[in-house]
Amino acid sequence: MKIVSFYPGPSRVYSKVTEFLYEAYMDGVLSWNHRSKEFSEMLEKTLSLMKEKLLIPEDYEIVFTSSATECWEIIAQSLTREKSFHLYNGAFGEKWMNYAKKLKPKTTGQQFGLEEKLNTEIAIDDESEIVCITQNETSNGTHVSCDIIDQIKKNNPNKLVAVDATSSMGGIVLDFKSADIWFASVQKCFGLPAGMGIMILSPQAVQVSESIGENAHYNSLNFVLENFRKFQTPYTPNVMDIYLLMRTLEVSKGIERMQEKLLGRIADYEKFFEEFDSLNFLVKNKEVRSQTVLAIENEDVEKLKKEALRAGILVGNGYGEWKNSTFRIANFPAIKKRAVKKLKNFCWSNYK
Ligand SMILES: *Cc1c(COP(=O)(O)O)cnc(C)c1O
Repeated sequence: MKIVSFYPGPSRVYSKVTEFLYEAYMDGVLSWNHRSKEFSEMLEKTLSLMKEKLLIPEDYEIVFTSSATECWEIIAQSLTREKSFHLYNGAFGEKWMNYAKKLKPKTTGQQFGLEEKLNTEIAIDDESEIVCITQNETSNGTHVSCDIIDQIKKNNPNKLVAVDATSSMGGIVLDFKSADIWFASVQKCFGLPAGMGIMILSPQAVQVSESIGENAHYNSLNFVLENFRKFQTPYTPNVMDIYLLMRTLEVSKGIERMQEKLLGRIADYEKFFEEFDSLNFLVKNKEVRSQTVLAIENEDVEKLKKEALRAGILVGNGYGEWKNSTFRIANFPAIKKRAVKKLKNFCWSNYK
């Protein structure tokens, strides 16, 4: 039996990936040398498609990394002199802070509540050079709206604002102008095989990177930027993922259309789960609820996951603090309408 996956990462890849991979193989792309002209041209085209389809400002720079985790490290290593300040309410935001602390021990942060709208007036000490926010907290299904991020930046214009959008970029419209650093990895909303991260930088972020001048690592941001400006990479990159990103962006109708589809689906899910006593959103406050990852409470999650699998449906495990009380459903663009229908039928016949 074919299993439909709602796992929030690695998640279902776009159906077209099969066809694109076949073509990549036949055209020899998978064995291209990354120092070749063909590769450079592909990289240039991919970066320009990113800007066009995701509505990234022209003066922002884009680089590829190996993962979102690597982006956490690059921020601590190349964009922070002494300390960053982390606002978090879940496992990924907290993990980011802990990774940053290993490189910059003075790093601090503040936790906020699951149902709480992030306070834009929050006092951030003068020594913190960079404010770190997880836009979409994959572990508990909450999000921070771009309006709030924008306000935090406006209240702290001299600090950089870094945003982890790993499980929302590629699915919803992000207001890139509202912050300085945005990053994601391709195995979530982008619907691609795991193995590549994406980092987007404002002119202010690039300036800070240059003035810090950190250049001691293979992935020092200045070195990476120098390479990408020439459409080269500091090390042999994931050529396959770059190719697949290019091909999927080429056929994409743009991020606004994508968002429309996802928001429609979320609204349907909200109406649907209202009908149930035993399946409830973990997050009650709709304003802070994620648009791309649903965390659903049930009293016997283990049983539910087993039954779902028997019916050909893989839902995501709960994560961190919510591991045993919730399961997660990805609302990513690559997930088919008929898969959603299958999931709803399963819920209806077993839990209603
Ligand atoms: C998945 C995820 C990460 C880690 O991504 P990797 O590509 O595995 O490094 C970081 N932050 C958030 C919010 C995530 O969902």
